[in-house]
Amino acid sequence: MHDEVKSAALNPYHMAVQQFEAAADMINLSEDMREILRQPKRELTVNFPVRLDNGRVKTFTGYRVQHNVNRGPAKGGIRYSPEVTLDEVKALAMWMTWKCAVVGIPYGGAKGGVICDPKQMNPSELERLTRRYATEISIVIGPHSDIPAPDVNTNAQVMGWIMDTYSMHEGYSIPAVVTGKPLSIGGSEGRNDATATGVLFVTRQAAKRIGMPLKGARVSIQGFGNAGSIAARLFHHDGCKIVSVSDTRGGIYNEAGIDPATVLRFKQERGSVINYPHAQKISVDEVLEIPCDILIPAATEGVITSANADRVQARIISEAANGPTTPEADAILFRKGVIVIPDILANAGGVTVSYFEWVQDLQSFFWGVEEITKKLEMIMNRAFAAVAEKADQFSSDMRLAANMLAISRVAEATQVRGIYP
Ligand code: NAD
Repeated sequence: MHDEVKSAALNPYHMAVQQFEAAADMINLSEDMREILRQPKRELTVNFPVRLDNGRVKTFTGYRVQHNVNRGPAKGGIRYSPEVTLDEVKALAMWMTWKCAVVGIPYGGAKGGVICDPKQMNPSELERLTRRYATEISIVIGPHSDIPAPDVNTNAQVMGWIMDTYSMHEGYSIPAVVTGKPLSIGGSEGRNDATATGVLFVTRQAAKRIGMPLKGARVSIQGFGNAGSIAARLFHHDGCKIVSVSDTRGGIYNEAGIDPATVLRFKQERGSVINYPHAQKISVDEVLEIPCDILIPAATEGVITSANADRVQARIISEAANGPTTPEADAILFRKGVIVIPDILANAGGVTVSYFEWVQDLQSFFWGVEEITKKLEMIMNRAFAAVAEKADQFSSDMRLAANMLAISRVAEATQVRGIYP
């Protein structure tokens, strides 16, 4: 395997630091400030036992990392996966800090994860794992300190269990401790679709920039979970042709377009998109290289690397996933003239509506979906415009521009607060 693929793609934290240093160089960030922002503020590792349904006990390892909280409480998702590592969680926490800053919402960055394979666990085991993990990290989370949300393999039900566990310890209901909850316990309208909706809003702006109509544009999507499957539905509804989608088991392709709603039903019944009858079966990697106008990585980190970036055919890459493109791939794509809408901008719709949910919970006053969507569109368009302006000013790609913007904002907050004591 190519060295870069091994080191950067497999170590997201190295990738995040490399991106940070590149932007820090551009804004002439002082060495003192780099020293502060390069590392997470807090890293909690927990090892905890869970009783399995077969009566045996298994110890799981989980993490909660807070990168920086100078602009507000920490915010970030929780992922369940056998591939979770501390370095992955650290990278994701750092990206959350920049993401919240780039869209201008008053949060710092955090992330959590548990090393487990939820596909091999019963719902009752997942509930016990979640409640125990929530208890273990309750020393650092809270409605004013650190507010988790869903990520890979976690969902509204998992958030409901966390909210309940935390509330049981406190003795009263505290909905604002997590976002992405079910509506019945203080969730927000629009949260489920928020990440994909944000991806659509910024992709519309990018398409406008290069004079590409979205109607009829061919879209390929890697990952068919919360972000990917909803993006498929929304882009299809906007007139795009979804030519290819994939999940961990493989991909499907039909140049005439596939109907996302039918594919979703198929996946729900069969557990995967592969073997969908009205499309050709392709590999997980081919989804990224298929002829298309817009590529949406919506699965995991380090999938577009120096090994395949040259074969990407899309004109726009909208990063629904966090960290899908390595720095070396970024350079190749920039040279090829591909617009990469970076993760910290492209998928910020999720945390933005999470912010709306938290605000609504704190004031116990809830908004309608129209209001949420309107506010989200305003924030996403404003952030896109600011990043595009910076990219033009520095003749840089959008990732570097977004990082410059975000890091400047976090550095300013850090500077003005000063160093305690
Ligand atoms: P999810 O668990 O709902 O879905 C993940 C999907 O990716 C599944 O279909 C899975 O089969 C597929 N997948 C995983 N690894 C793959 C691989 N190597 N190749 C192809 N497919 C693969 O997760 P999600 O919430 O949709 O998150 C997906 C990405 O979007 C993550 O990077 C996450 O951090 C990011 N994201 C999610 C949200 C959100 O609100 N859910 C917000 C911002 C960013």
